[in-house]
Amino acid sequence: MEDNKSSRNKRRCSFCGRSENEVGFLITGINGCICDSCAEQAHEIVQEALSQKGRAAGELKLAELPKPKDIKAFLDQYVIGQDDAKRYLSVAVYNHYKRLLQTKDDSDVEIEKSNIIMVGSTGTGKTLLARTIAKLLHVPFTIVDATVLTEAGYVGEDIESILTRLLQVADYNVAEAERGIVFIDEIDKIARKGDNPSITRDVSGEGVQQGLLKLLEGSVVNVPPQGGRKHPDQKMIPVNTKNILFICGGAFDGIERKIAQRLNTNVVGYNAAKEQVKIDRSNLMQYIAPQDLKSFGLIPEIIGRLPVLTYLNPLDRTALRNILTEPKNSIIRQYVKLFEMDGVKLEFEPEVFDYIVDKAVEYKLGARGLRSIVETIITDTMFEIPSRNVDRFVVTLDYAKEQMGKANLSRLQMA
Ligand code: ADP
Repeated sequence: MEDNKSSRNKRRCSFCGRSENEVGFLITGINGCICDSCAEQAHEIVQEALSQKGRAAGELKLAELPKPKDIKAFLDQYVIGQDDAKRYLSVAVYNHYKRLLQTKDDSDVEIEKSNIIMVGSTGTGKTLLARTIAKLLHVPFTIVDATVLTEAGYVGEDIESILTRLLQVADYNVAEAERGIVFIDEIDKIARKGDNPSITRDVSGEGVQQGLLKLLEGSVVNVPPQGGRKHPDQKMIPVNTKNILFICGGAFDGIERKIAQRLNTNVVGYNAAKEQVKIDRSNLMQYIAPQDLKSFGLIPEIIGRLPVLTYLNPLDRTALRNILTEPKNSIIRQYVKLFEMDGVKLEFEPEVFDYIVDKAVEYKLGARGLRSIVETIITDTMFEIPSRNVDRFVVTLDYAKEQMGKANLSRLQMA
Protein backbone atom coordinates (compact mmCIF):
# COMPACT_ATOMS: atom_id res chain seq x y z
CA MET A 1 0.00 0.00 0.00
CA GLU A 2 2.72 2.39 1.18
CA ASP A 3 4.86 1.47 -1.81
CA ASN A 4 2.09 1.99 -4.22
CA LYS A 5 1.53 5.54 -2.92
CA SER A 6 5.15 6.58 -3.17
CA SER A 7 5.45 5.23 -6.69
CA ARG A 8 2.37 7.26 -7.65
CA ASN A 9 3.97 10.37 -6.20
CA LYS A 10 6.96 9.80 -8.41
CA ARG A 11 4.91 10.11 -11.53
CA ARG A 12 5.89 13.25 -13.37
CA CYS A 13 4.71 15.24 -16.34
CA SER A 14 6.87 14.17 -19.25
CA PHE A 15 6.74 17.74 -20.62
CA CYS A 16 7.50 20.04 -17.68
CA GLY A 17 8.90 17.46 -15.30
CA ARG A 18 6.72 18.50 -12.36
CA SER A 19 5.52 15.72 -10.07
CA GLU A 20 1.93 14.78 -9.52
CA ASN A 21 1.54 16.76 -6.32
CA GLU A 22 2.91 19.92 -7.94
CA VAL A 23 0.24 20.00 -10.64
CA GLY A 24 -3.56 19.96 -10.81
CA PHE A 25 -3.72 16.47 -12.25
CA LEU A 26 -1.81 14.17 -14.58
CA ILE A 27 -3.16 12.41 -17.64
CA THR A 28 -1.38 9.08 -18.10
CA GLY A 29 -0.39 7.79 -21.51
CA ILE A 30 1.38 4.56 -22.53
CA ASN A 31 4.91 5.82 -22.00
CA GLY A 32 4.45 9.02 -20.10
CA CYS A 33 2.19 11.60 -18.53
CA ILE A 34 1.04 15.14 -19.23
CA CYS A 35 -0.11 17.62 -16.61
CA ASP A 36 -3.17 19.82 -16.94
CA SER A 37 -1.28 23.02 -17.68
CA CYS A 38 0.96 21.40 -20.34
CA ALA A 39 -2.14 19.89 -21.93
CA GLU A 40 -3.70 23.34 -22.06
CA GLN A 41 -0.59 24.85 -23.63
CA ALA A 42 -0.45 22.05 -26.18
CA HIS A 43 -4.06 22.80 -27.07
CA GLU A 44 -3.20 26.47 -27.67
CA ILE A 45 -0.28 25.52 -29.89
CA VAL A 46 -2.52 23.25 -31.95
CA GLN A 47 -5.13 26.00 -32.31
CA GLU A 48 -2.52 28.52 -33.40
CA ALA A 49 -1.05 26.11 -35.96
CA LEU A 50 -4.49 25.31 -37.32
CA SER A 51 -5.46 28.94 -37.66
CA GLN A 52 -2.22 29.74 -39.49
CA LYS A 53 -2.94 26.91 -41.86
CA GLY A 54 -6.49 28.18 -42.28
CA ARG A 55 -5.22 31.65 -43.00
CA ALA A 56 -2.94 30.36 -45.71
CA ALA A 57 -5.77 28.33 -47.21
CA GLY A 58 -8.16 31.28 -47.05
CA GLU A 59 -5.81 33.61 -48.89
CA LEU A 60 -7.50 35.81 -51.43
CA LYS A 61 -6.70 35.53 -55.11
CA LEU A 62 -7.99 38.36 -57.23
CA ALA A 63 -8.73 36.15 -60.22
CA GLU A 64 -10.98 33.93 -58.11
CA LEU A 65 -12.90 36.74 -56.47
CA PRO A 66 -16.33 37.75 -57.71
CA LYS A 67 -16.23 40.91 -59.83
CA PRO A 68 -18.60 43.80 -59.06
CA LYS A 69 -20.96 42.59 -61.79
CA ASP A 70 -21.00 39.08 -60.30
CA ILE A 71 -21.69 40.48 -56.85
CA LYS A 72 -24.59 42.54 -58.18
CA ALA A 73 -26.00 39.60 -60.11
CA PHE A 74 -25.96 37.60 -56.91
CA LEU A 75 -27.72 40.37 -54.99
CA ASP A 76 -30.32 40.56 -57.77
CA GLN A 77 -31.43 37.04 -56.97
CA TYR A 78 -32.49 38.01 -53.47
CA VAL A 79 -33.12 41.75 -53.41
CA ILE A 80 -35.66 43.52 -55.61
CA GLY A 81 -34.66 46.85 -57.18
CA GLN A 82 -32.27 49.15 -55.26
CA ASP A 83 -29.86 49.16 -58.19
CA ASP A 84 -27.83 52.13 -57.04
CA ALA A 85 -27.19 50.69 -53.60
CA LYS A 86 -26.29 47.32 -55.14
CA ARG A 87 -23.76 48.88 -57.49
CA TYR A 88 -22.11 50.89 -54.74
CA LEU A 89 -21.95 47.88 -52.46
CA SER A 90 -20.54 45.59 -55.14
CA VAL A 91 -17.79 48.03 -56.01
CA ALA A 92 -16.98 48.70 -52.36
CA VAL A 93 -16.66 45.02 -51.54
CA TYR A 94 -14.50 44.38 -54.60
CA ASN A 95 -12.24 47.30 -53.74
CA HIS A 96 -12.02 46.03 -50.21
CA TYR A 97 -10.59 42.78 -51.52
CA LYS A 98 -8.11 44.71 -53.64
CA ARG A 99 -6.90 46.69 -50.65
CA LEU A 100 -6.37 43.46 -48.78
CA LEU A 101 -4.36 42.08 -51.67
CA GLN A 102 -2.11 45.10 -51.87
CA THR A 103 1.26 44.07 -50.56
CA LYS A 104 3.27 46.47 -48.44
CA ASP A 105 6.18 46.78 -50.87
CA ASP A 106 4.24 47.71 -54.00
CA SER A 107 2.45 50.48 -52.23
CA ASP A 108 3.68 53.87 -53.18
CA VAL A 109 -0.02 54.44 -53.78
CA GLU A 110 -1.88 53.34 -50.71
CA ILE A 111 -5.49 52.54 -51.39
CA GLU A 112 -7.62 53.98 -48.64
CA LYS A 113 -10.75 52.23 -47.56
CA SER A 114 -14.12 53.59 -48.59
CA ASN A 115 -16.61 52.95 -45.82
CA ILE A 116 -20.20 53.15 -46.95
CA ILE A 117 -23.40 54.68 -45.67
CA MET A 118 -26.80 53.56 -46.98
CA VAL A 119 -29.82 55.71 -46.32
CA GLY A 120 -33.37 54.47 -46.86
CA SER A 121 -36.68 54.10 -45.06
CA THR A 122 -37.11 51.14 -42.79
CA GLY A 123 -38.02 47.91 -44.53
CA THR A 124 -36.57 48.83 -47.92
CA GLY A 125 -33.86 46.18 -47.85
CA LYS A 126 -30.76 47.62 -46.18
CA THR A 127 -30.25 44.71 -43.81
CA LEU A 128 -31.29 42.25 -46.48
CA LEU A 129 -28.57 43.64 -48.77
CA ALA A 130 -26.01 43.31 -46.02
CA ARG A 131 -27.08 39.76 -45.14
CA THR A 132 -27.11 38.69 -48.76
CA ILE A 133 -23.68 40.06 -49.46
CA ALA A 134 -22.42 38.19 -46.40
CA LYS A 135 -23.34 34.91 -48.10
CA LEU A 136 -20.73 35.36 -50.77
CA LEU A 137 -17.99 37.09 -48.88
CA HIS A 138 -14.56 35.65 -48.41
CA VAL A 139 -13.90 37.62 -45.23
CA PRO A 140 -15.56 37.63 -41.78
CA PHE A 141 -18.75 39.65 -41.66
CA THR A 142 -21.10 40.76 -38.92
CA ILE A 143 -24.12 42.97 -38.37
CA VAL A 144 -24.36 45.12 -35.26
CA ASP A 145 -27.05 47.48 -34.09
CA ALA A 146 -26.01 51.02 -33.19
CA THR A 147 -28.97 51.53 -30.83
CA VAL A 148 -27.33 49.53 -28.03
CA LEU A 149 -24.17 51.62 -28.09
CA THR A 150 -23.46 54.26 -25.52
CA GLU A 151 -20.48 56.25 -24.46
CA ALA A 152 -18.03 54.43 -22.21
CA GLY A 153 -19.24 54.63 -18.64
CA TYR A 154 -22.95 54.72 -19.45
CA VAL A 155 -25.54 51.97 -19.43
CA GLY A 156 -25.41 50.05 -22.72
CA GLU A 157 -22.60 48.60 -24.72
CA ASP A 158 -19.23 50.19 -25.30
CA ILE A 159 -18.34 51.07 -28.88
CA GLU A 160 -15.59 48.47 -28.86
CA SER A 161 -18.17 45.70 -28.54
CA ILE A 162 -18.89 46.25 -32.27
CA LEU A 163 -15.67 44.37 -32.88
CA THR A 164 -16.46 41.59 -30.42
CA ARG A 165 -18.95 40.11 -32.85
CA LEU A 166 -16.43 40.27 -35.66
CA LEU A 167 -13.87 38.49 -33.51
CA GLN A 168 -16.44 35.84 -32.69
CA VAL A 169 -17.29 35.12 -36.33
CA ALA A 170 -13.55 35.01 -37.07
CA ASP A 171 -13.21 32.42 -34.30
CA TYR A 172 -11.06 34.86 -32.36
CA ASN A 173 -8.50 34.85 -35.15
CA VAL A 174 -7.44 38.49 -34.85
CA ALA A 175 -5.68 38.67 -38.23
CA GLU A 176 -8.84 37.42 -39.95
CA ALA A 177 -11.09 39.82 -38.03
CA GLU A 178 -8.81 42.69 -39.00
CA ARG A 179 -9.80 42.25 -42.67
CA GLY A 180 -13.49 41.77 -42.09
CA ILE A 181 -16.58 43.80 -42.86
CA VAL A 182 -18.96 45.22 -40.25
CA PHE A 183 -22.49 46.36 -41.02
CA ILE A 184 -23.66 48.94 -38.47
CA ASP A 185 -27.44 49.12 -38.58
CA GLU A 186 -29.53 52.07 -37.37
CA ILE A 187 -26.62 54.48 -37.50
CA ASP A 188 -29.16 57.34 -37.50
CA LYS A 189 -30.04 56.51 -33.90
CA ILE A 190 -26.74 57.97 -32.71
CA ALA A 191 -27.31 61.28 -34.48
CA ARG A 192 -27.12 64.34 -32.33
CA LYS A 193 -30.56 65.45 -31.28
CA GLY A 194 -31.07 68.90 -32.73
CA ASP A 195 -28.76 70.81 -35.00
CA ASN A 196 -26.75 72.57 -32.32
CA PRO A 197 -24.04 70.83 -30.38
CA SER A 198 -25.49 70.49 -26.90
CA ILE A 199 -23.79 71.81 -23.82
CA THR A 200 -25.06 68.99 -21.68
CA ARG A 201 -23.76 65.54 -22.47
CA ASP A 202 -25.65 63.72 -25.16
CA VAL A 203 -25.23 60.14 -24.05
CA SER A 204 -26.55 58.41 -27.12
CA GLY A 205 -25.37 60.98 -29.61
CA GLU A 206 -22.19 62.88 -30.13
CA GLY A 207 -20.08 60.96 -27.61
CA VAL A 208 -20.90 57.70 -29.33
CA GLN A 209 -20.10 59.23 -32.70
CA GLN A 210 -16.71 60.32 -31.38
CA GLY A 211 -16.09 56.77 -30.23
CA LEU A 212 -17.20 55.36 -33.54
CA LEU A 213 -14.91 57.74 -35.36
CA LYS A 214 -11.95 56.03 -33.75
CA LEU A 215 -13.04 52.71 -35.24
CA LEU A 216 -13.78 54.11 -38.69
CA GLU A 217 -10.51 55.97 -38.93
CA GLY A 218 -8.40 52.94 -38.26
CA SER A 219 -6.73 52.52 -34.93
CA VAL A 220 -5.82 49.81 -32.48
CA VAL A 221 -8.80 49.19 -30.25
CA ASN A 222 -8.96 47.04 -27.13
CA VAL A 223 -11.90 44.72 -27.60
CA PRO A 224 -13.69 42.89 -24.79
CA PRO A 225 -13.71 39.27 -26.06
CA GLN A 226 -17.13 38.52 -24.56
CA GLY A 227 -18.73 41.82 -25.51
CA GLY A 228 -20.95 43.93 -23.30
CA ARG A 229 -19.19 46.25 -20.95
CA LYS A 230 -15.51 46.39 -20.27
CA HIS A 231 -14.59 44.75 -17.00
CA PRO A 232 -11.31 45.58 -15.37
CA ASP A 233 -10.59 41.86 -15.00
CA GLN A 234 -11.46 40.97 -18.59
CA LYS A 235 -8.46 40.36 -20.84
CA MET A 236 -8.77 42.72 -23.81
CA ILE A 237 -7.80 41.77 -27.35
CA PRO A 238 -6.13 44.54 -29.39
CA VAL A 239 -7.64 44.79 -32.87
CA ASN A 240 -6.43 47.12 -35.61
CA THR A 241 -9.37 48.55 -37.56
CA LYS A 242 -7.27 49.96 -40.41
CA ASN A 243 -8.44 47.31 -42.89
CA ILE A 244 -11.93 46.67 -41.57
CA LEU A 245 -14.62 47.90 -43.94
CA PHE A 246 -17.61 49.53 -42.29
CA ILE A 247 -20.99 49.67 -43.98
CA CYS A 248 -23.55 51.77 -42.16
CA GLY A 249 -27.30 51.81 -42.70
CA GLY A 250 -30.05 53.97 -41.33
CA ALA A 251 -33.61 55.10 -42.01
CA PHE A 252 -32.90 58.75 -41.16
CA ASP A 253 -36.60 59.43 -40.68
CA GLY A 254 -37.52 62.89 -41.87
CA ILE A 255 -34.28 63.50 -43.77
CA GLU A 256 -36.36 64.19 -46.88
CA ARG A 257 -37.33 67.50 -45.29
CA LYS A 258 -33.67 68.45 -44.99
CA ILE A 259 -33.07 67.41 -48.59
CA ALA A 260 -36.06 69.44 -49.76
CA GLN A 261 -34.87 72.48 -47.81
CA ARG A 262 -31.43 72.25 -49.36
CA LEU A 263 -32.80 71.76 -52.85
CA ASN A 264 -35.10 74.77 -52.41
CA THR A 265 -32.34 77.07 -51.23
CA ASN A 266 -30.14 75.90 -54.07
CA VAL A 267 -32.83 76.84 -56.55
CA VAL A 268 -33.11 80.42 -55.31
CA GLY A 269 -29.41 80.81 -54.99
CA TYR A 270 -26.58 80.24 -57.36
CA ASN A 271 -28.19 77.38 -59.24
CA ALA A 272 -31.22 79.41 -60.27
CA ALA A 273 -29.31 80.85 -63.16
CA LYS A 274 -28.40 77.40 -64.43
CA GLU A 275 -30.72 75.24 -66.35
CA GLN A 276 -33.09 73.83 -63.77
CA VAL A 277 -33.10 70.10 -63.40
CA LYS A 278 -36.50 68.66 -62.78
CA ILE A 279 -36.74 67.38 -59.24
CA ASP A 280 -38.71 64.20 -58.58
CA ARG A 281 -40.51 65.18 -55.37
CA SER A 282 -41.91 61.71 -54.85
CA ASN A 283 -38.46 60.31 -54.13
CA LEU A 284 -36.23 62.94 -52.60
CA MET A 285 -33.91 60.33 -51.12
CA GLN A 286 -32.13 59.99 -54.46
CA TYR A 287 -30.74 63.51 -54.05
CA ILE A 288 -29.16 62.82 -50.67
CA ALA A 289 -25.86 64.59 -50.09
CA PRO A 290 -23.39 64.60 -47.18
CA GLN A 291 -24.64 67.96 -45.88
CA ASP A 292 -28.09 66.42 -45.31
CA LEU A 293 -26.52 63.90 -42.97
CA LYS A 294 -24.92 66.79 -41.16
CA SER A 295 -28.24 68.61 -40.82
CA PHE A 296 -29.66 65.38 -39.46
CA GLY A 297 -27.07 65.28 -36.69
CA LEU A 298 -24.06 63.29 -37.79
CA ILE A 299 -20.79 65.02 -37.02
CA PRO A 300 -18.74 66.09 -40.05
CA GLU A 301 -15.81 63.85 -39.05
CA ILE A 302 -18.02 60.76 -39.22
CA ILE A 303 -19.45 61.84 -42.57
CA GLY A 304 -15.91 62.33 -43.85
CA ARG A 305 -15.10 58.75 -42.86
CA LEU A 306 -18.08 57.39 -44.77
CA PRO A 307 -17.17 58.65 -48.24
CA VAL A 308 -19.56 56.41 -50.17
CA LEU A 309 -23.11 57.63 -49.70
CA THR A 310 -25.94 55.71 -51.31
CA TYR A 311 -29.69 55.44 -50.88
CA LEU A 312 -32.53 52.98 -51.14
CA ASN A 313 -35.76 53.73 -52.94
CA PRO A 314 -39.09 53.57 -51.19
CA LEU A 315 -40.92 50.40 -52.23
CA ASP A 316 -43.84 51.03 -54.55
CA ARG A 317 -46.65 48.59 -55.32
CA THR A 318 -44.76 46.89 -58.14
CA ALA A 319 -41.73 46.39 -55.91
CA LEU A 320 -43.88 44.94 -53.12
CA ARG A 321 -45.60 42.63 -55.57
CA ASN A 322 -42.22 41.44 -56.84
CA ILE A 323 -40.83 40.96 -53.35
CA LEU A 324 -43.70 38.60 -52.65
CA THR A 325 -42.89 36.20 -55.46
CA GLU A 326 -39.61 36.95 -57.25
CA PRO A 327 -36.62 36.54 -54.91
CA LYS A 328 -34.95 33.14 -54.76
CA ASN A 329 -36.33 32.65 -51.27
CA SER A 330 -39.42 34.84 -51.59
CA ILE A 331 -42.14 34.66 -48.97
CA ILE A 332 -44.49 32.74 -51.27
CA ARG A 333 -41.80 30.23 -52.25
CA GLN A 334 -41.13 29.62 -48.58
CA TYR A 335 -44.76 28.73 -47.89
CA VAL A 336 -44.98 26.59 -51.02
CA LYS A 337 -41.97 24.71 -49.70
CA LEU A 338 -43.57 24.25 -46.29
CA PHE A 339 -46.66 22.69 -47.86
CA GLU A 340 -44.56 20.61 -50.23
CA MET A 341 -43.03 18.92 -47.21
CA ASP A 342 -46.52 17.66 -46.38
CA GLY A 343 -46.96 16.52 -49.96
CA VAL A 344 -49.37 19.37 -50.71
CA LYS A 345 -49.14 21.64 -53.74
CA LEU A 346 -49.93 25.18 -52.57
CA GLU A 347 -51.19 27.58 -55.22
CA PHE A 348 -52.41 31.15 -55.20
CA GLU A 349 -54.82 32.89 -57.54
CA PRO A 350 -52.80 35.79 -58.99
CA GLU A 351 -55.35 38.31 -57.64
CA VAL A 352 -54.43 37.22 -54.14
CA PHE A 353 -50.98 38.74 -54.58
CA ASP A 354 -52.46 42.10 -55.53
CA TYR A 355 -54.80 41.86 -52.57
CA ILE A 356 -51.86 41.20 -50.21
CA VAL A 357 -50.01 44.22 -51.62
CA ASP A 358 -53.20 46.33 -51.21
CA LYS A 359 -53.37 45.41 -47.54
CA ALA A 360 -49.68 46.07 -46.98
CA VAL A 361 -50.11 49.53 -48.50
CA GLU A 362 -53.42 50.20 -46.72
CA TYR A 363 -51.95 49.43 -43.29
CA LYS A 364 -48.59 51.01 -44.16
CA LEU A 365 -46.83 47.75 -43.34
CA GLY A 366 -44.23 47.88 -46.10
CA ALA A 367 -42.28 44.80 -47.10
CA ARG A 368 -42.07 43.56 -43.52
CA GLY A 369 -45.85 43.31 -43.39
CA LEU A 370 -46.10 41.05 -46.43
CA ARG A 371 -45.09 38.02 -44.43
CA SER A 372 -47.57 38.65 -41.60
CA ILE A 373 -50.38 39.10 -44.12
CA VAL A 374 -49.56 35.85 -45.91
CA GLU A 375 -49.28 34.14 -42.53
CA THR A 376 -52.71 35.48 -41.52
CA ILE A 377 -54.25 34.19 -44.72
CA ILE A 378 -52.92 30.66 -44.55
CA THR A 379 -52.53 29.89 -40.85
CA ASP A 380 -55.86 28.03 -40.70
CA THR A 381 -54.83 25.97 -43.71
CA MET A 382 -51.46 25.19 -42.18
CA PHE A 383 -53.29 24.02 -39.07
CA GLU A 384 -55.73 21.78 -40.94
CA ILE A 385 -53.85 20.43 -43.94
CA PRO A 386 -51.31 18.09 -42.31
CA SER A 387 -54.15 16.00 -40.83
CA ARG A 388 -56.20 15.93 -44.01
CA ASN A 389 -55.77 13.79 -47.05
CA VAL A 390 -55.33 16.43 -49.77
CA ASP A 391 -52.56 16.94 -52.27
CA ARG A 392 -53.41 20.42 -53.49
CA PHE A 393 -54.68 23.65 -51.97
CA VAL A 394 -55.58 26.81 -53.91
CA VAL A 395 -55.78 30.12 -52.08
CA THR A 396 -58.56 31.99 -53.84
CA LEU A 397 -59.25 35.70 -53.52
CA ASP A 398 -62.46 34.96 -51.61
CA TYR A 399 -60.63 32.71 -49.20
CA ALA A 400 -57.92 35.34 -48.63
CA LYS A 401 -60.54 38.02 -47.94
CA GLU A 402 -62.44 35.76 -45.58
CA GLN A 403 -59.29 34.95 -43.59
CA MET A 404 -58.25 38.59 -43.42
CA GLY A 405 -61.78 39.47 -42.28
CA LYS A 406 -61.48 37.06 -39.38
CA ALA A 407 -58.05 38.30 -38.34
CA ASN A 408 -57.32 40.74 -35.63
CA LEU A 409 -56.05 43.57 -37.79
CA SER A 410 -54.79 45.65 -34.94
CA ARG A 411 -52.25 42.88 -34.33
CA LEU A 412 -51.12 43.10 -37.94
CA GLN A 413 -50.56 46.81 -37.66
CA MET A 414 -48.18 46.24 -34.79
CA ALA A 415 -46.03 43.99 -36.95
P1 ADP B 1 -34.27 47.64 -43.49
O1 ADP B 1 -32.98 47.08 -43.00
O2 ADP B 1 -34.10 48.56 -44.65
O3 ADP B 1 -35.12 48.24 -42.41
P2 ADP B 1 -34.85 44.92 -44.18
O4 ADP B 1 -33.75 44.65 -45.11
O5 ADP B 1 -34.75 44.36 -42.79
O6 ADP B 1 -35.16 46.46 -44.08
O7 ADP B 1 -36.21 44.43 -44.86
C1 ADP B 1 -37.24 43.78 -44.14
C2 ADP B 1 -37.80 42.63 -44.92
O8 ADP B 1 -38.53 43.12 -46.04
C3 ADP B 1 -36.73 41.73 -45.51
O9 ADP B 1 -36.45 40.64 -44.70
C4 ADP B 1 -37.35 41.26 -46.83
O10 ADP B 1 -38.19 40.15 -46.61
C5 ADP B 1 -38.23 42.39 -47.23
N1 ADP B 1 -37.60 43.33 -48.19
C6 ADP B 1 -37.39 44.64 -47.99
N2 ADP B 1 -36.87 45.21 -49.07
C7 ADP B 1 -36.72 44.25 -49.99
C8 ADP B 1 -36.21 44.21 -51.33
N3 ADP B 1 -35.75 45.32 -51.93
N4 ADP B 1 -36.20 43.03 -51.96
C9 ADP B 1 -36.67 41.91 -51.37
N5 ADP B 1 -37.15 41.87 -50.13
C10 ADP B 1 -37.20 43.02 -49.43
